[in-house]
Amino acid sequence: MKVLITGGAGFLGSHLCDRFVTDGHEVTCLDSLLTGREANIAHLQGHSRFHFVKGDVADVALLETLGPVDAILHFASPASPVDYLEAPVDTVRAGSVGTWALLDLARARKARFLLASTSEIYGEPLVHPQTESYWGNVNPIGVRSVYDEAKRFSEMLTAMYRREFDVNTAIIRIFNTYGPRMRANDGRVVPNFVLQALRGEPITIYGDGSQTRSFCYYSDLVEGIARTLASDLHDPVNLGNPEEVSMRQLAETVLELTGGSSPLQFQPLPSDDPTRRCPDIGRARTHLGWAPTVSLRRGLTDTIDWFRRTSPP
Ligand code: NAD
Ligand code: UDP
Repeated sequence: MKVLITGGAGFLGSHLCDRFVTDGHEVTCLDSLLTGREANIAHLQGHSRFHFVKGDVADVALLETLGPVDAILHFASPASPVDYLEAPVDTVRAGSVGTWALLDLARARKARFLLASTSEIYGEPLVHPQTESYWGNVNPIGVRSVYDEAKRFSEMLTAMYRREFDVNTAIIRIFNTYGPRMRANDGRVVPNFVLQALRGEPITIYGDGSQTRSFCYYSDLVEGIARTLASDLHDPVNLGNPEEVSMRQLAETVLELTGGSSPLQFQPLPSDDPTRRCPDIGRARTHLGWAPTVSLRRGLTDTIDWFRRTSPP
């Protein structure tokens, strides 16, 4: 297959480029480098089945130059709250005009289109764990809405292109995923806690640390994405690891695994920070035969090793 991966120089996108090149496909990585890095794909440069195009997903003229494509994986968007709050307009554009342009491309090229949506579309969830049938509870004008509502709008566009134009679409709702190649300063909780522990700096817990997240290791997620793309699933599917932890527990686990002795420092909770997050993965189990295999402790151990090697204190 000829596979277009937008956001392919980012954390998840670069692992997807690796996976699809390894599986024998021809991969075009389209990335503006807004939050991604060429270093993430440096090892693929020069491979005969890998092409990097620097550009924006909303650039229709550029998309038209890309040639035939069988599958589009739309991952281009800032994903860390710190990143999307710094670049709100870019975030909304990637999730609106960008998604629209890529759906037009998928329609014209008869390609399968896979949207990287997010657990953030559930907002502050009133249903726990979150099932795909839950519609969510999002503040439409809150600071996080530039990301949440752009992804919800992307889901709507994707569903509309399926209904109106019979485009072969898939929607994955990704829950917090971590691992090597996250930017040290992207502000997400795993890089923050790991680097703070390795450097002996205070661990910054926002709020009282009772809020929960469910962390999936990147390799499990990549497997779930490959299975979704290969399936004929059109309905949204949650991809995440149901192992739910509080941010206080996460801080304690990171300290234990790094052998660090940093103090915990409690800071104000950012606005609209969800209280809890845990995926119901019944649909992925049934339709994709998929479930995560890497425990939080195993994944954190590998991630800590990676940060030790790449961001020495
Ligand atoms: P990331 O910031 O590492 O990657 C995003 C990539 O998109 C970067 O390389 C960036 O340069 C690129 N990009 C941004 N805007 C662009 C544009 N307009 N045109 C071209 N490229 C653009 O983040 P990530 O964690 O790898 O997330 C990738 C995707 O997965 C995002 O769409 C995100 O919403 C989704 N997602 C990630 C998680 C997670 O926990 N990592 C959870 C839910 C959803
Ligand atoms: N968080 C924290 N300390 C940090 C960074 C984040 O306590 O240094 C919290 C944050 O408030 C949230 C959780 O960790 O409750 C996950 O944050 P992240 O930015 O990784 O992802 P998201 O909020 O998008 O789930």
